[in-house]
Amino acid sequence: MKTIIEPFRIKSVEPIRMTTPQERRDLLKRADYNLFKLHSDDVLIDLLTDSGTSAMSAQQWSALMAGDECYAGSPSFYRFEAAVRDLMDFKHIIPTHQGRAAEAILFSILGGEGKYIPSNTHFDTTRGNIENSGAEATDLVIEEGKDPALIHPFKGNMDLDKLESYLGEYGDKVPCVMLTITNNAGGGQPVSLENIRGTAALAKRFGKPFIIDGCRFAENAWFIQQREAGQGDRTIKEIVRDCFALADGMTMSAKKDAFANIGGWLALNDDELAEKCRARLIMTEGFPTYGGLAGRDLDAIAQGLTEIVDENYLRYRIRTNEYIGERLDALGVPVVKPAGGHAVFVDARRWLSHIAPLQYPGQAVACALYELGGIRGCEIGTVMFGRAPDGSEKPAAMDLVRLAIPRRVYTQSHADYMVEVFEELSAIKDSLPGYRITQEPKMLRHFTASFEPLQ
Ligand SMILES: *Cc1c(COP(=O)(O)O)cnc(C)c1O
Repeated sequence: MKTIIEPFRIKSVEPIRMTTPQERRDLLKRADYNLFKLHSDDVLIDLLTDSGTSAMSAQQWSALMAGDECYAGSPSFYRFEAAVRDLMDFKHIIPTHQGRAAEAILFSILGGEGKYIPSNTHFDTTRGNIENSGAEATDLVIEEGKDPALIHPFKGNMDLDKLESYLGEYGDKVPCVMLTITNNAGGGQPVSLENIRGTAALAKRFGKPFIIDGCRFAENAWFIQQREAGQGDRTIKEIVRDCFALADGMTMSAKKDAFANIGGWLALNDDELAEKCRARLIMTEGFPTYGGLAGRDLDAIAQGLTEIVDENYLRYRIRTNEYIGERLDALGVPVVKPAGGHAVFVDARRWLSHIAPLQYPGQAVACALYELGGIRGCEIGTVMFGRAPDGSEKPAAMDLVRLAIPRRVYTQSHADYMVEVFEELSAIKDSLPGYRITQEPKMLRHFTASFEPLQ
């Protein structure tokens, strides 16, 4: 059978409130052409993020009811801890309310003025937490990972030569080596097991703890199984265990590859570092057996972790992105290749070449997708990164629109509908206007800025 079906049935549905292009034109205007300001029930297909947007299974909903809300020593914590350890065998597993809380705790101890922290590509909250501590965050992804059109099986890989010189150059100023799997900020591109091994070996040679940002560990393991020599016969769980056995710790957002709507954790092997982190956790998140979560959340994560490593799920998940990517490619819409694990990225600067980068081609595509088809994507380009801390503005490296796919939420016909919207958009793309910003905050302007179409 060649059709890959959704490996689930639907028991509970969330109706989509249908709207017309005319209604959406008005809604968009009222939102100042900023998709973050829309009410989500005015969106037909919401591809803003894959974070916290997963559909939970019947087993997860049942697990919520079994959650134990005792302050200390809840059985929910021990189920959570066992489920994490089954995949990532770390000595200390510390729950947090989100991934960024794990980062904030870790870098409040490892970071600080004069420190340098390398990764393939730091995710924006990771970079934010490192910089907030006074340290510098450096991205060392391989060159192939920076070319949207280039096909390479592991575009998230760390450049090991660069890492080696970096560790040589900064020596004692480097408190740890990070690696993000999959590489979210680099298009959801995977890192090979060989590259994880190489990164771990370098970290060890220079005496640095090796910390994996593991938010999409299961998607990464699927790519390793499918693309890496010698890995095809191994189970996802075996591959996941191998990846994390190479690390000294990890940070995690359970809003990604744990099918939960909230949650995260920090895991470590070092007793002394873990003790410092727990002390910090008590001040900022909560007692070490709940870490800012309800007992029921810990149970939802524990159950979610047993489901995320299912090969039938991963096959359907990754195929959905590939399918959308292939269909868009066939329509002549430039996409980042190959499709990433959690999202399809459209190269808006190339597609709308009549719009200059400082007139925000990514914003133009995102607004048009919403108006025409009710689809909400996310501009990742000059709007997001174009304003420098000194107040000047310049084009970002790329102007992309990210279509992040929530886990187990949309079906094949939703995917086909998305492709149709792009098909209609292709016919009118050359008449789409650029935008100008009429008002913006000092930092993180993409969330709250107001826009106006030019013309
Ligand atoms: C989402 C994410 C984070 C932060 O996690 P939150 O739960 O959103 O705080 C960190 N790293 C990566 C790679 C992510 O995708």
